[in-house]
Amino acid sequence: MPTNTRTHNWQLENSYAKLPAVFFSLQQPFPVKKPEIVCFNKRLANDLGLGFLNHEKENSVGYFSGNKIPDGAEPLAQAYAGHQFGHFTMLGDGRAILLGEQIDPTGKRFDIQLKGSGQTPYSRRGDGRATLYSMLREYLISESMHHLGIPTTRSLSVVSTGEQVFRGEMHTGAVLTRTADSHIRVGTFEYARNFGSEEDLQALTTYTIQRHYPEIADADNAPLELLKAVMHKQIDLVVNWMRVGFIHGVMNTDNMSIAGETIDYGPCAFMNSYNPKTVFSSIDTHGRYAFGNQSHVAQWNLAIFAGALLPVISKNQQKAVDLAREVIEGFPHKFTEKWYAMMFGKLGILHPEDKDKDLVDGLLSLMETNKADYTQVFLALQHDKEPDGPLFRQEEFRAWVEKWKNTHLGDERKTPSLTLMNTLNPKVIPRNHWVENVLEAAVEGNLTPFSQLMGMLSKPYGTHTDELQFQQIPEGFDARYQTFCGT
Ligand code: AMP
Ligand code: MG
Repeated sequence: MPTNTRTHNWQLENSYAKLPAVFFSLQQPFPVKKPEIVCFNKRLANDLGLGFLNHEKENSVGYFSGNKIPDGAEPLAQAYAGHQFGHFTMLGDGRAILLGEQIDPTGKRFDIQLKGSGQTPYSRRGDGRATLYSMLREYLISESMHHLGIPTTRSLSVVSTGEQVFRGEMHTGAVLTRTADSHIRVGTFEYARNFGSEEDLQALTTYTIQRHYPEIADADNAPLELLKAVMHKQIDLVVNWMRVGFIHGVMNTDNMSIAGETIDYGPCAFMNSYNPKTVFSSIDTHGRYAFGNQSHVAQWNLAIFAGALLPVISKNQQKAVDLAREVIEGFPHKFTEKWYAMMFGKLGILHPEDKDKDLVDGLLSLMETNKADYTQVFLALQHDKEPDGPLFRQEEFRAWVEKWKNTHLGDERKTPSLTLMNTLNPKVIPRNHWVENVLEAAVEGNLTPFSQLMGMLSKPYGTHTDELQFQQIPEGFDARYQTFCGT
């Protein structure tokens, strides 16, 4: 086949469909009444080798609504289980369909999944549908995370369905097309362990290693290496979330990707005032998934992952438990070291010493007491600014700044320090009030504010006016702000 024809067709494979049949149900998306493209991610389409769709509007609207199945697709819903708020339950794709895996021009494999595409055998009492509001929210925040440099599933398009979805009241329905390194979750392993045979668990383990961690395939104990590899990815991911103030909001084990991407954007939000207890999710009444608790939950989830892997780690149960426990017990130290390294970077500290940890702790404590904006404080330090706010009027804070400057921003260090800070401290993040304003306009048919915000969020470390960076958060907004799962 001449290479230039390659870019004019889907390049779909279906490796997941070759797993044992317990892992999925073949399922076609349900057609929708009147699909219309609301947004389409041209850059992502080009990267995936789907750039030809930019010129095929009719086909695109069909593919991304579920009304037309691309050549080579073998649509299926994935089976998985999970611990939701600590309780084990059977789940599965209740409103999502995996069309297949697109092989991009570099040979990389990406799941192409429709979300909101109708009921599946795993829908339980759900309608299998999604609202335009929440699919645009996932599009905006997942793409923003990508541009912040944080591993994430991505959003290729949102199509409105011309149908209404009932969520307490009627809403416009939509289908999101999302891409991912894969949709294999901790919960997929829990499903294999609890509802499959040992061969099924082994098949999933082998498949996952080949797909995501081929470098460990020949290790003496590849399943144990898988546990370590996933742990490292999760540590890096949560450290990155902490860097930008991201609160996932529902870190159930079914929402933790084995590939280490941020996945399942439901009640997520960004923290403004620094407070580790920050929670926005309407159902997280005990703060299980609060900003500062995310590393503890990640470790908890990894212990569940380890539990699911035990039979393939060793036939000797005690040995398996000992090996897995040793890995999981290493989490807190590894996390803390990486978290401090990230915080040193945010402060431009090029040659950190152990005592600099006190500097980080001291700053966070001052920020918390003074309810300072997490993003703005680092920008203020980086740009030597003093925006309005109680923190900047504090003697103690001024003393902290002096110490930080004298120790770490000496003449020859200043430029590389500021360069480092610039790569780690975003100038714009999806502020909660911005997100809500543009989504409200978008569901009313005005997409201009949404596109403008998306444009800003696609260059989070670029040049933005001070007005944007140091904008006041509307008084009381965060106290009232609530986010929701699965809408
Ligand atoms: P999430 O809150 O997105 O992690 O979803 C938890 C579980 O609920 C998953 O099994 C979803 O597939 C399922 N689910 C969420 N919304 C719906 C819906 N509208 N219809 C069917 N299943 C749903
Ligand atoms: Mg989920």
